[in-house]
Amino acid sequence: MKVAVYPGSFDPVTNGHMDLIKRGAGLFDKLILGVLINPQKHPLLSMEERIDILSELTREISNIEVKAFQGLLVDFVEREKADVILRGLRTSEDFAYELPLAQANYKMNRKADTLFLATAPEYSYISSGGVKEILHFGGDIKDMVPEVVYKRLLRL
Ligand code: ADP
Repeated sequence: MKVAVYPGSFDPVTNGHMDLIKRGAGLFDKLILGVLINPQKHPLLSMEERIDILSELTREISNIEVKAFQGLLVDFVEREKADVILRGLRTSEDFAYELPLAQANYKMNRKADTLFLATAPEYSYISSGGVKEILHFGGDIKDMVPEVVYKRLLRL
């Protein structure tokens, strides 16, 4: 059984994340969405909200689990007995950021292979950070996030 971990802050989850989640679930026997607890960041949405939203959005995909984690990603991967870390690549900037992370993780744990999925072109401009910035200045983010997220963010 091949198990992948897709880690991220998902603050908030975007249509780009959802595309990767659906494709990842089709590629592996189990896909664990690892929601990062980062004490240094002040998230827009609480951990509970992010877990609830991801669980609701993936309710109909039976091989997905949603879990919070903190500390080293490789330790989480080990605990979950996962084979693969799944990440998305939007741009060459993502590649420059992701490659040393993947290499550091592999150095720390030879069983922690990272696989990258190329983002669907229609989502490659979307980032959680961008969504937050546009929202902050009153712009429209309807096309960037799932409807449940959109409704939740409008209430902030
Ligand atoms: P982080 O806290 O690591 O920045 P994010 O939640 O922003 O976490 O992103 C998690 C993963 O999702 C990364 O691999 C990132 O490349 C991928 N990702 C982010 N936005 C998109 C998108 N629009 N399309 C596909 N993958 C994406």
